[in-house]
Amino acid sequence: MSTSLITNIAELTTNVASPDGDRFGTLVDAAVLIDGERIAWVGSAADAPEADVVLDAAGRAVIPGFVDSHSHLVFGGDRAAEFEARMAGQRYAAGGIRSTVVATRAASDDELRARLRGFVDEMLAQGTTTVEIKSGYGLSVRDEERLVRLAAEVTPEVTFLGAHVVPVEYADRADEYVGLVTGPMLDACAPHAKWIDVFCETGAFSVEQSRRVLEAGIAQGLVPRVHASQLGPGEGVRLAVDLGAASVDHGTYLTDSDIEALAASDTVLTLLPGVEFSTRQPYPDARRLIDAGVTVAIACDTNPGSSFTSSMPFCIALAVRDMGLTPAEAVWAATAGGALALRRDDVGVITPGARADLVLLSAPTRIHLAYRPGVPLVERVWKDGVGVFAASGTAEGTNHGTVAR
Ligand SMILES: [Zn+2]
Repeated sequence: MSTSLITNIAELTTNVASPDGDRFGTLVDAAVLIDGERIAWVGSAADAPEADVVLDAAGRAVIPGFVDSHSHLVFGGDRAAEFEARMAGQRYAAGGIRSTVVATRAASDDELRARLRGFVDEMLAQGTTTVEIKSGYGLSVRDEERLVRLAAEVTPEVTFLGAHVVPVEYADRADEYVGLVTGPMLDACAPHAKWIDVFCETGAFSVEQSRRVLEAGIAQGLVPRVHASQLGPGEGVRLAVDLGAASVDHGTYLTDSDIEALAASDTVLTLLPGVEFSTRQPYPDARRLIDAGVTVAIACDTNPGSSFTSSMPFCIALAVRDMGLTPAEAVWAATAGGALALRRDDVGVITPGARADLVLLSAPTRIHLAYRPGVPLVERVWKDGVGVFAASGTAEGTNHGTVAR
């Protein structure tokens, strides 16, 4: 197996807390040795070992590949007209999901697969090397099974979200639909999934219905994560903490008791700043969350309704500008934080033994990710030790994006 050395790294973010108290594990004038799929050595460029291939980072920064722990990438159609109407003053509501359900049911497996792989490549080119993907636009046994099966072709982080919204054919029969989700639909989807999720919100599922869904998933070996407090305060955060969820996502409207419960738990609060941006809702105060001791992740929530961005750098910029995180905290939340939200310790960090998932930025420091919003700063990406993207103008010259595994 061949080794590669990336050396002369001006600023290396390892996310391994250093003895001097830097929780981001920042090294200057550093080097990283990759052996096969894994990181073999990390240290000072002056002490770097020999390698088969050497890449000179020439004073640029390296960070772990982004871990995007929340996305909805398997769907048909788009909702550009709805976005345009919203920007003209119309409010976002959970019901818009139903129009994507119609388009998704009408799409063939091949159409959905081609689109999904396109999104994964788009993400790789922006530095995302691990992505979680949810179902939730099928809402029938047949269609939800298709979505989790297709998602499992591109990532091990698959979430069954049959309880995304009540489909029109079950209007006024929500409890009956929950029976379908927790029965035949779960039976069909659980073999392809690792996670169980529910949209616990007014207009979607009540806290009692959400508990039924999550407990049924847990009984089949899935681990819970919850969409909660996106459109208003509710009981979803407490439910997530009670059930030991890996993550509760959105948290746009958190109460003081929600924050206390999160701080005392292992549940990560996943911020989705692209949603507040795209729906013109207020941004949650993430500064307050971190100061209270809550573990925070950042994800894109890529979906056609409320956040159609796949750019972790854009979400980092929003989290710094509008949620009160420092650039270092935002990069941590988009890498190590996402890994915690997926209960992974082999990604989101640059340390011997971890997967060799790395991003070389065309900038001397990670601060530029927030300082230069909208500028494509991702220069090269490695996934499992393989170069999967190189920006045009670099030695490789073209996009080598492949499906993330
Ligand atoms: Zn979502």
